[in-house]
Amino acid sequence: MLETLRHIVQEVNTASGLNDALQIIVRRVRDAMGTQVCSVYLLESNTGRYVLRATQGLNQDQVGVASLNAGDGLVGLVADREEPVNLESAEYHPSFQLLEGLGEEPFHAFLGVPIIHQRDVLGVLVVQQAERRRFDESEEAFLVTLSAQLAGVIAHAQVTGAVEMGALTGAGPAKISGVPGAPGVAIGTAVVVSPGADLYAVPQRQAQDRRKELQAFRDALGKVQRDIKQVAHNLGTQLSPEDHALFDVYLSILDDSTLGREVASLIREGEWAQGALSRVMIEHIRHFERMEHSYLQERAVDVKDLGTRVLAYLQEADHEERVYPDKTILVGEELVASSLGEIPREKLVGLISVRGSGNSHVAILARAMGVPTVMGAVDLPYARLEDHELIIDGYNGTVHLNPEPEVKRRFEEILAADDALSKDLESLRDEPCITIDGKRMPLWVNTGLMADVTRSLEQGAEGVGLYRTEVPFLLRDGFPTEEEQRQIYRSQLEAFAPRPVTMRTLDIGGDKALPYFPIEEDNPFLGWRGIRVTLDHPEIFLAQVRAMIKANEGLWNLRIMLPMVSNVAELVEALDLIHRSHRELVQDGLQGRLPPVGVMVEVPAAVYQARSLARRVDFLSVGSNDLTQYLLAVDRNNARVADLYHSLHPAVLRALNEVAEAARAEGVPIGICGELAGDPAGAVLLLAMGYDVLSMNATSLPRVKKALLNVRVDESRDLLGEVMGMDHAGDIHARLDGFLTEHGMEKFIHNPVA
Ligand code: PEP
Ligand code: MG
Repeated sequence: MLETLRHIVQEVNTASGLNDALQIIVRRVRDAMGTQVCSVYLLESNTGRYVLRATQGLNQDQVGVASLNAGDGLVGLVADREEPVNLESAEYHPSFQLLEGLGEEPFHAFLGVPIIHQRDVLGVLVVQQAERRRFDESEEAFLVTLSAQLAGVIAHAQVTGAVEMGALTGAGPAKISGVPGAPGVAIGTAVVVSPGADLYAVPQRQAQDRRKELQAFRDALGKVQRDIKQVAHNLGTQLSPEDHALFDVYLSILDDSTLGREVASLIREGEWAQGALSRVMIEHIRHFERMEHSYLQERAVDVKDLGTRVLAYLQEADHEERVYPDKTILVGEELVASSLGEIPREKLVGLISVRGSGNSHVAILARAMGVPTVMGAVDLPYARLEDHELIIDGYNGTVHLNPEPEVKRRFEEILAADDALSKDLESLRDEPCITIDGKRMPLWVNTGLMADVTRSLEQGAEGVGLYRTEVPFLLRDGFPTEEEQRQIYRSQLEAFAPRPVTMRTLDIGGDKALPYFPIEEDNPFLGWRGIRVTLDHPEIFLAQVRAMIKANEGLWNLRIMLPMVSNVAELVEALDLIHRSHRELVQDGLQGRLPPVGVMVEVPAAVYQARSLARRVDFLSVGSNDLTQYLLAVDRNNARVADLYHSLHPAVLRALNEVAEAARAEGVPIGICGELAGDPAGAVLLLAMGYDVLSMNATSLPRVKKALLNVRVDESRDLLGEVMGMDHAGDIHARLDGFLTEHGMEKFIHNPVA
């Protein structure tokens, strides 16, 4: 059963559109369950009715015609109850309704299951049979499992349908929900980032120059043929003649007269080479997969492998030629930090990632760069969006396709208002951040890219509270040498001197894998991450610390910070290594004392041991992004649980408050470098808790400054007292919004187009 299920889902996944997907479902489910009827009814959002969209066994001319309201008939009952209905004789059930002309009369047994996606009922999947019998438990379980798996595919295909209709007719606006990644609005043109060579994720595009595409395809094909011949040659006598024959089969699949001809003819019709290749290959793969004989089924794997190789060469050639439109919105299945490095900054206006959430590192970088971003847009048919005009609403985490003119106008207004606000805030650049009653709050920035430096200085940063050293590591093909690192760190330190720069030692693992140092784990956020990796590889840690200390010479503005510390032993060990590096460098003639060393509080264990940690270091800095993830047990990278990730959860606020108290008790300065520091209302609470420094992304800095200039410490403490008594994050949010409004800062409540 499992195998059948997997095959059906796989096949549906390769469907060319919603109708194709539904056809596959009804045909394959009817065959797999041996029933006489299988039908799918889908909810039509404008009428609220469940419409028959595909059937095997009932009258085809009723497809698109027969429909029921929620609660009406057995289909409506399934939808209404959101659970399966399994009946021996459907016609005796009080909800039964005979639909004229559908041809249901001969069928008595009925099993209907709801199709539910993200809590919404999308439709109902039904099987029927003439024999009067109850479907047994295993059949019911099969249909329920299948429906749960197909729900996402159907939701995806529905949006895809809207995109295609829009492209063809100019109609069909669609709004896709994701989660906010970086605030702001963008209107621009989609450029799809290919996720490596994946035949199933090739963006659809028209060929700009058919002759060139044809040539590119022939070149790529030639290269793969050459590679295969080379492999066969290298293996030489190790292979039997039969094995060699297999290579001949591969070469014949790639032959110009078979596969090559089909791809070329699609290119001549106007498709670009990658799209044509993917269509032809998927068709062939499906063909082999459907074959009865297991030997032939296995050939599907070979065909896929060959197609993928050709695709990789095509992508390589395309990459070199890429020209980005002026207002590019990068769209990809899983954008990562390095995706941002490839496009000129002035052309990039927005980002959309199908996977990941607002706390993924790519989103944090996007915030630092001020690029509106939507993450976790799981239903976005991203591969079909190339060249589409899109609107990104980074405040609410939504993407608008083919928007109505009225909607577009509203977004243009928001864009203009945002620009005006930024200009307004520019005047604050050189003003210190002092509350109405005279409390000074240093505002620092988080950096990673070199581009952040200018931006941070423009925004009036007084220091760097977190330099994510892994970012330059992520953008390379191999570990930088000690000397390369020294130069990178030197330029950071120089750019900000005499302001302090807090460099965090390498924090890889979790969602930050170096391409040249892969870490594959089932539970990466609870695994080999941050200090755990570098203590296991002292050579990496020592080289990094030495590079930092050398870069500091003469500037003396370096601070070193340790990530992901979860026990005192790790801290002691890391401090030993730092002292040793410093000692050795001094022996070699370096001047200057040890830079201040601090530790991040970003796992719950560190909250409870904050005093023990504080005693051993020069400063503490709370990493509220990870602390929130670990306290609430919510993967910061998972869009499915993004609505549970509350940085203002009462438990998080309590932890932040306790850490501040612990640091005070030990007389050690306490800072914060998580995203909460960049939230104007969050900053007011941190002021009240007694945080000594707030470090945030450069884009947020002027807003936070404006907020703190508008408050008094005593009223911030009253506010903190109030919210600490609340049980729900939602209530805390509402109270903070109220506070901002009372202080004339409603423009910082960012929900302009709910
Ligand atoms: C944090 O966890 O809050 C933090 C600042 O570190 P990062 O976001 O890089 O994990
Ligand atoms: Mg962290």
